[in-house]
Amino acid sequence: MSAVTFSNVSKRYGAVTALDNLDLTVGDGEFVSLLGPSGSGKSTTLNLLAGLMAADTGTIHIGDRDITHLPPEQRDLAMVFQNYALYPHMTVAENIAFPLEARKPRPEKSEIERRVERVAETLGVGNLLARYPKEISGGQQQRVALGRAMVRDPRVFLLDEPLSNLDARLRVRMRRDLKELHRQLGSTIVYVTHDQSEAMTLSDRVAVFAQGKLQQVAPPLEIYNNP
Ligand code: ADP
Ligand code: ADP
Repeated sequence: MSAVTFSNVSKRYGAVTALDNLDLTVGDGEFVSLLGPSGSGKSTTLNLLAGLMAADTGTIHIGDRDITHLPPEQRDLAMVFQNYALYPHMTVAENIAFPLEARKPRPEKSEIERRVERVAETLGVGNLLARYPKEISGGQQQRVALGRAMVRDPRVFLLDEPLSNLDARLRVRMRRDLKELHRQLGSTIVYVTHDQSEAMTLSDRVAVFAQGKLQQVAPPLEIYNNP
């Protein structure tokens, strides 16, 4: 079963075709990177999937459900942004718990605590639950941002350049951690990056974009560079 299916999806901004007839499927448990230079259509693809904007044509499915016209909160996915802004006035635990607190009906307090603790343990921030964002490192903040997505237990994770604001050393470590996490959890991940080596290291398959068109989609070793 496919976790995500784009069929014939296009998006224009005035005269600019941001995305031209995209056909792409992401398998259950698969890690797929959207790779391409700035302006190639990666963010548009992710934003359409997240429901932050509407496609001009085509359909998008999550599993066998047509989500093309569903609002973001009904799409069973969680997005982690580049500037993973945590709420500064909330502790790590409160940040991770936030999506559950906002859920209707709200889960039992004990259920929220249990899930927050489990997610924090998985991410190695279980000892930081009472800290505030400014009291922890950038890498730890990034994990907390991931935790806030994981706690909802979504069908699909969307990651938009999540490592681009980290320094080089931390980026390499987070790359390793992300890969390990994916192996452990078996989650479906759609990952946007303009960094070729990042895409190659992390992904099961890489979807290469240029000027709004999907050029090729293949496992890292089968990706060729266009002349
Ligand atoms: P990225 O390369 O990470 O997508 P951009 O700088 O291209 O970042 O875009 C940043 C934001 O500006 C995005 O929300 C994008 O939708 C918007 N944007 C990009 N190009 C334009 C444009 N020509 N007119 C208006 N908004 C734009
Ligand atoms: P990427 O994520 O690969 O940098 P985008 O999907 O952000 O690419 O952008 C694809 C194209 O659409 C670019 O030409 C960009 O300038 C344009 N674009 C993106 N967002 C907007 C917007 N809000 N208004 C106008 N043009 C936009």
